[in-house]
Amino acid sequence: MARDALELAFRHAIGYLDGLDGSPAARVDLGPELLRKRLAKSLCEGVAPPQVVRELIDDAQKGLLGSAGGRFFGWVRGGCLTAALAADWLNSVWDQNAALYTTAPAAAIVEEVVGEWLKEVLHISARASFALVTGCQMAHVTCLAAARHALLAEHGQDVERDGLFDVPPLRILSSEERHASLDRAVRLLGLGSRHIVDLAVDRDGRLSQAALERALQDNGKQPSIVVLRAGDVNTGAFDDFRALVPVAQRYGAWVHLDGAFGLWVASSTRYRDLLEGADGADSWAADGHKWLNVPYDCGYAFVAKAEAHRASMSHRAPYVTPSLHARDEIDWNPEWSRRARGFGTYAALRQLGLPGIAELVERCCGHAESLVAQIGALEGAEIVWKPVINQGMVRFLAHGAHATGTADDRWTEEVIRRIALTGEAFFSGTTWRGRRVMRISVCNWQTGENDVSRAVRAVASVLANLESEVKP
Ligand SMILES: *Cc1c(COP(=O)(O)O)cnc(C)c1O
Repeated sequence: MARDALELAFRHAIGYLDGLDGSPAARVDLGPELLRKRLAKSLCEGVAPPQVVRELIDDAQKGLLGSAGGRFFGWVRGGCLTAALAADWLNSVWDQNAALYTTAPAAAIVEEVVGEWLKEVLHISARASFALVTGCQMAHVTCLAAARHALLAEHGQDVERDGLFDVPPLRILSSEERHASLDRAVRLLGLGSRHIVDLAVDRDGRLSQAALERALQDNGKQPSIVVLRAGDVNTGAFDDFRALVPVAQRYGAWVHLDGAFGLWVASSTRYRDLLEGADGADSWAADGHKWLNVPYDCGYAFVAKAEAHRASMSHRAPYVTPSLHARDEIDWNPEWSRRARGFGTYAALRQLGLPGIAELVERCCGHAESLVAQIGALEGAEIVWKPVINQGMVRFLAHGAHATGTADDRWTEEVIRRIALTGEAFFSGTTWRGRRVMRISVCNWQTGENDVSRAVRAVASVLANLESEVKP
C-alpha cells in the first residue's frame, strides 16, 4: 500500500513535469468556492493512502499555477532544478530533524558545506556566519535580530535577557521602495514599524546618498540600521553600495542588505559590478527558492559579526546536546525542529556549479530584456522599465483621444487578465509610482527562447483581439 501511494505520486510527478510545456501557465481561477467544495472532505473515517493521493491530485489540479514551468513570469518565482527537486523528495523520505548535529548528522554537515559554498558564490566574507531559513523575510528577521543584539549591547543592554525595555528605540533607515517583508521583520522583532524611516530614491530607484546622510545626522547618536537593496522587486534596481555603506559606517549604523534575488548576480562577471561595495555590509538576506530554483521554502541569512548572530539565536535545553566538532543549526536559526533544507540547496549548487549559476543568471536577464523589448514594441504597449537584471515592466494604453491615466490602468489590468486566460503565459500586475503596470520577471531555469516567443505571441494576440472588440 505504501508503494502504491508513492508510485502514484511519482507517476503523476513525472507526467506533470513532462507536460509543463503543453499545459497552461495559469488556469482560469475557479474561485475558492469550487476548490473548497472539492477539498474540504469529511474526516469521519480514514482513507487508504493511494486514494488520498489520487484524490488530492484530482482535487488540487485545477487550483495549481504553472509556476514550475518556463512561461510563468509573475511575481518573482523560481522553478525547481531537477537535482534539487530529487533531493527535496529524499529529504522527506529521510525525515531528518535538522536542529542539531546529533539529531541529523548528515544534514548538519551538508549545511556547513552549503554555507561555505553560498558565501563563495555570493561573494560574502568567508568569516560571516549563516543560517538556512524559510525565505528572505525570515532571513531579515535573523539578520536584524543580530543587529538588534549588537546595537543594544553597545548601549549596555542584553536584549535577549532584558528585552526592549528602557532602551533607546532603534531606527531603521531604508528606501521608500523597499520590499514590504522588511516591515514585517521589524514588527516581529518588536522594533515597531513606526521606527522605519522612509528615504527618497532617485529616478533609478537608488537610495539617495544625501537623504541617507541627512537622516543619519538627525539624532546621530540613535542606534540605527540602514537597509540597502540589491534588486528591487519591480525594477531590479541596486543601491549604490560603494557610496552608501561608508556613510552608514561613519555613523556606526548596522548595514543590512536585502538581496532576495539580486545577490545572485555576484556569480556573473557581466552583472557583478552592481554589487560593488556590498561586501562591506554587516548582514545579507537572500532567497534560494527564487533565482537558485530550489523548492520552497528556502532562504539564507549571513552575518559578518558571527558572535552577534549566535548570541541572538543560540538556545539550549537539558536534553539538547551541543556538538563540539560540528555546527549545530539551532545556534543560528529561529526554529527548533526544522526541515533539513540544506539538501535542496546542496543539490542545486552541485548541479549548476559556479559556471552554471552565472549562466542561469545571465540567461534569465537576457530573456527578461527580450520580453520587455518585444512586448514593449507591440502596438498599444509601452515600456515602463527596461531590465537592469531580470525584472522589467510594461504598460498598455487605452484608446481614444479622451483616454486618461485611469483608463490605461484599467486597460493594463484587462490585458494582464486576458493573457492569463490564453494559458500561454502568466504575468502579474502592480501599481508602481502611481501607475498600473505589468511586471515581467524571469527566474525559472526552464524558460527558453521558445517560451519567450510564445509569451510575446500571446500578448500580441490579446492586444489584437481587444483592438477588434473596441473598433468592430
Ligand atoms: C521575495 C522578496 C522578499 C521576501 O522573500 P520571501 O522569500 O518571500 O520571504 C524580500 N525582498 C525582496 C526584494 C524579494 O523579492
